Amino acid sequence: MTSVQGPSVFLEYEGKPVPARELTWAVYSPCGCQSGVIVAQSGTYLIPDEATAWKEYFETAAIRNREKKRGYSFRLLRHEDSTKNLGGNCPHTPKWGVPDTTPPEGMAWGKSSSGKTMHLIPFDGESSNRHSFVTAKDYKGRIVASCGKEDWGWDVDDFLLSELLTCSKCEAALTK
Ligand SMILES: [Zn+2]
Ligand SMILES: [Zn+2]
Repeated sequence: MTSVQGPSVFLEYEGKPVPARELTWAVYSPCGCQSGVIVAQSGTYLIPDEATAWKEYFETAAIRNREKKRGYSFRLLRHEDSTKNLGGNCPHTPKWGVPDTTPPEGMAWGKSSSGKTMHLIPFDGESSNRHSFVTAKDYKGRIVASCGKEDWGWDVDDFLLSELLTCSKCEAALTK
């Protein structure tokens, strides 16, 4: 840890000014369980308001819109309170109040070269090594997603999932 001290910033907490570095933005899932945290201040890094917290936590506007509609929310808490309910345990179904989109064995979320949405495609790679590009066996071949979308080549990098929306038809096929 660095000991860089940023500017002294105070945020309003329960009607009183409290140093931002004593506060954390708690992330609440649609079910009401706390699913994450982001510190309000670390050195010069500062999240002064909820709008900024949204931007820090969810990478793209498309993802933010989806999660707002789903009912995610942020609340400012003192550090010690922000970790009390953070255990990764959510008793609700579906867990965290959002559909489980974990691909089954032999499938992965992938993005076609021209696409901006993740589709569920057959994929036999290692689940721990999804940083690759898969292509159909020959040039004229196509890999077909659960929704019917087909393309020759697909990106199956897990990292893309934090930036792109998943296809609702493919999601529906997943929960069938
Ligand atoms: Zn829950
Ligand atoms: Zn799809």
